[in-house]
Amino acid sequence: MTSSAPNAIRTRFAPSPTGFLHLGGARTALFSWAFARHHKGVFVLRIEDTDVERSTPEAVQAILDSMQWLGMGPDEGPFYQMQHMDRYREVVAQMLAAGTAYHCYSSPDEVEAMREKARAEGRKPRYDGTWRPAPGKTLPPVPEDRRPVVRFANPQSGVTSWDDMIKGTITFDNGELDDLIIARPDGTPTYNFCVVVDDWDMKITHVLRGDDHVNNTPRQINILRALGATLPEYGHVPMILGPDGEKLSKRHGAVNVMAYDDEGYLPEAMVNYLARLGWSHGDDELFTRDQLVAWFDTKHLSKSASQWDPKKLNWVNAHYIKHMDDAELAARVAPRIVKRGGNPDATDLPAVMGLLKDRAETLEQLADGAMLFCGEFKGAPAELAAQHLTDPAREALRDFAQRAANVEWTREALSATIKQVLADRGMKMPQLGIPLRIAVTGQQQTPAIDAVLAILGRDTVLARLGSV
Ligand code: GLU
Repeated sequence: MTSSAPNAIRTRFAPSPTGFLHLGGARTALFSWAFARHHKGVFVLRIEDTDVERSTPEAVQAILDSMQWLGMGPDEGPFYQMQHMDRYREVVAQMLAAGTAYHCYSSPDEVEAMREKARAEGRKPRYDGTWRPAPGKTLPPVPEDRRPVVRFANPQSGVTSWDDMIKGTITFDNGELDDLIIARPDGTPTYNFCVVVDDWDMKITHVLRGDDHVNNTPRQINILRALGATLPEYGHVPMILGPDGEKLSKRHGAVNVMAYDDEGYLPEAMVNYLARLGWSHGDDELFTRDQLVAWFDTKHLSKSASQWDPKKLNWVNAHYIKHMDDAELAARVAPRIVKRGGNPDATDLPAVMGLLKDRAETLEQLADGAMLFCGEFKGAPAELAAQHLTDPAREALRDFAQRAANVEWTREALSATIKQVLADRGMKMPQLGIPLRIAVTGQQQTPAIDAVLAILGRDTVLARLGSV
């Protein structure tokens, strides 16, 4: 669905594959995805893997899996920065030739000394421009045996300002910005520079990213300007805080997106919940993916940090479970039943879903509940049986079994039969309901017993009652 229109909106998600995709990253990706979709534009995935020490193929895979799970597959990419090295070198060479970058032979120790000096004089610690060429300036002699870094010749006066899509106008004094190193002594390009070249080459029109990148933006803008590139719009998304107001971390539970899959959250619910975390459409709390795309705008992205709320996520997930088609739910829960050693084919699983879904918050809870119908029947624990399967209870159960053998096997008919037994024997519901549950399911607590009996089926129920 790649659009080739010249004015197409192009967004990107540019994760560093140094770990799994966390909730904050997933939300940023979602905003970029929704923005591109809304404008019928292009969503690009770029893997920023230049930190070779910390990047791993497993992390790349985890990012791809998470994005697929959330249904945010890219229109273009994944692209890998490590495959663009020649291009970065080419641009460095162009900038050196154009005089927008220069070789700097100051050693790290010398730069540290410059910083120290600046600090001691109450100035911002920065590189002092020793090797920055200027008209009429004589540069020091090039030291032997030292390979230079390449620095960007940042503008030395004026301001760099942009109208952030989320935070409004942000202005930095150019005098505060260092002449950034864009290539190391071994020629490898640095982080900010790779981002700039790729955003430029990929014709990115809108950058939505975490607000931990605000400080990088003036540097990136100045390099883009030096390259004569059109600037993208920038929007910096505030972070997600834990329920306690602290930075979201493992302490608050899972921060890995895929852990939510393990825990039985639906991707539909996750997308809805994540979108609402920092973006709003009036008072709407529940919306479909299509509605998100139709409504998404940057105007309603929140300027302030959002708070992770596990209870609300459960509420959203419960909503999606409740409204999901029974057969669809059954298909999603079946593998979880198998994991528990159960047999999803042992029962009418969609009917089981229909019975359980109103009270479930996660697919895991549904799978737990479904084991009543899909797991091996082991009978009731002896103590429970001894307590509840008393002589009068057994008599009532036999009475029920005899009558049930002759009725149509529906929830309604079974309910009517239970009521008849109660009436004829002068018993109250729990006096029959509890022994019935224990005899037929081995458990004292189950969903509505008439519905449970109906799904278990005549043969199973009568066989189990026959052996009490
Ligand atoms: N690779 C950066 C990160 O994972 C994102 C860079 C960007 O969005 O500009 O934080």
